[in-house]
Amino acid sequence: MTASGKTLLVTGGSRGIGAAVCRLAARAGYRVAVNYASNEAAAEAVVAEIKAGGGDAFAIKGDVGNEADVIAMFEAVDRTFGGLDAFVNNAGVVDRKARVDEMSVERLERMMRVNVVGSILCAREAIKRMSTLRGGKGGSIVNLSSIAATLGAPGEYVDYAASKGAIDTFTIGLAREVADEGVRVNTVRPGIIDTEIHASGGQPGRVAAMRNAVPMKREGKAEEVAQAVLWLLSDAASYTTGSIVNVSGGR
Ligand code: NAP
Repeated sequence: MTASGKTLLVTGGSRGIGAAVCRLAARAGYRVAVNYASNEAAAEAVVAEIKAGGGDAFAIKGDVGNEADVIAMFEAVDRTFGGLDAFVNNAGVVDRKARVDEMSVERLERMMRVNVVGSILCAREAIKRMSTLRGGKGGSIVNLSSIAATLGAPGEYVDYAASKGAIDTFTIGLAREVADEGVRVNTVRPGIIDTEIHASGGQPGRVAAMRNAVPMKREGKAEEVAQAVLWLLSDAASYTTGSIVNVSGGR
């Protein structure tokens, strides 16, 4: 998979799965824009690592759930890279373990704003730049869903699972909408992956606790998810669009 000189934007590229995608993509030859929400040090560490390896990258702060931030982020990529070949809609959040009858409207609005509205807003900006109908030269988009979309996450975060179900449906619709405009759109559905997202939802021991519920009896690594993302982005997946790839150890 060589992507020499191609440009890539990864939302939430500063930590976890997004950071693994940025590192792997840089090794494959992409110039990488690393988006983050607040942890500038983590984003700059990913950029420094890519540059140390001879790659090209820059960090860009922005909340995917904020339209002005999204527009500014894509404009920064235009200015710095002069075009966008590939985009990964990775930024996403969970929340505290809760039943639906305990969820506040503030929680639900944040979940849907970041995970759903944010992903659609970012895809909108990517399509404007990639679609041949808009004067672009095509491109590839990969969204991050979750195996929770198929399981529902009862008693834990049904709202999160529903937000990822929306991503699956969005993937199918957008893929068909732009299929003859040179843009492929696919989704990766990770299972239990060892990142900081579990601690951010107040469950730092979640990976260890869930390990035995995975048919492979182990958690996944961010790099294992990144491999699937990179394949879907690449020309090796040239006839693949509207697909949802589970990277979940059989879960
Ligand atoms: P993570 O370790 O918590 O990292 C989240 C990343 O997203 C960080 O770079 C964070 O930036 C960024 N981010 C959060 N909110 C943002 C916002 N509003 N705007 C822009 N960036 C934002 O998460 P992860 O585990 O790598 O998850 C990545 C994706 O995979 C998510 O969509 C998640 O739902 C999905 N997923 C993960 C798992 C899993 O087990 N880990 C399983 C299924 C699906 P800061 O560093 O600035 O906070």
